[in-house]
Amino acid sequence: MPAASGTARGGIDLGGTKIEAVIVDPRSKVLGAARRPTPTTGGPRDVVNEMLAALRDAAKLAGVKPAELLGVGVGAPGNVDPETGAVSNALNLPDWGGSYPLAAQLSRRLRTGVFVGNDVQVATDGEFRLGAGKPYKSVLGVFWGTGVGGGIVLDGKEWLGRGGAGEIGHTVVMLDGRRCPCGRRGCLEAYAGRAAMEARARKLKDKGAKTDLFKLMKKHDRPRLTSSIWEAAVRNGDKLAIELIDEAVHALGAGIGSAVNLLDVEAVVIGGGLGLRFGEPYVARIAEEMKPHVYVSQPDVQMASLGDQGGAIGAALLAQKARRTRASG
Ligand SMILES: [Zn+2]
Repeated sequence: MPAASGTARGGIDLGGTKIEAVIVDPRSKVLGAARRPTPTTGGPRDVVNEMLAALRDAAKLAGVKPAELLGVGVGAPGNVDPETGAVSNALNLPDWGGSYPLAAQLSRRLRTGVFVGNDVQVATDGEFRLGAGKPYKSVLGVFWGTGVGGGIVLDGKEWLGRGGAGEIGHTVVMLDGRRCPCGRRGCLEAYAGRAAMEARARKLKDKGAKTDLFKLMKKHDRPRLTSSIWEAAVRNGDKLAIELIDEAVHALGAGIGSAVNLLDVEAVVIGGGLGLRFGEPYVARIAEEMKPHVYVSQPDVQMASLGDQGGAIGAALLAQKARRTRASG
């Protein structure tokens, strides 16, 4: 509708599994949303084509043309250069080891400004400004999914460090512990990341452990153990799945508790594929597992409230900020 043109913003959450796009109004209400699987072959250009398709689908549902958007924000994995919008080292994306000018490519084809930020940080920002983190001034966002990502807001401002802040998944919860997908040992992600948990489940199954995890995967025609498969297996009483999820919750308690000792944030917001799928009861369990590690005072622990679209809604905030900067400059 013409009502949306000129005031609507776009947001894209570029994940290793799916691309989620939203169009939002000035108050961040979702006007249209679309989702596409992330290509597993090809390279950055193929990924960009799917991102464009998802955004155009969402725009169509919102009744607005992409070129009429105020701007589009993107939350991307890997190393993001916020100035140029180039993304490098996105190892969960096909053939994306090098640097690729993501903002420039999208902007040229959408004919509107495109602003790129770190996926987990924009999701944390979304929860901080619009979701479960709204009542607080300092928040640690923890995204429990394929990996374990973190975003930090201190005193109302996002903390990016030198660009690499928030990597809670690679804090050490066990000296000389299990090998992490990053190559190091004993990282939180080695125990709680879905990719690492799948590798562990496969190894234990090959050694003779009984589990229906991989049967469920085949039955639902999935290439990997998704969050919903883990949840279904735990619900069915699958012993191995329960053991690995318990271990993950235990490790999350140690990792998040240690981060709280360092930052003393008012609240921890837990999201991500597994976080959202397992929901409130598991968020409460993680909070309990944090307690033995928290030295001074336990913060509030909340479940992310923007849901699956949180990453894309948070990304759309980038377009708002960027516009304000330009307008005042
Ligand atoms: Zn690691």
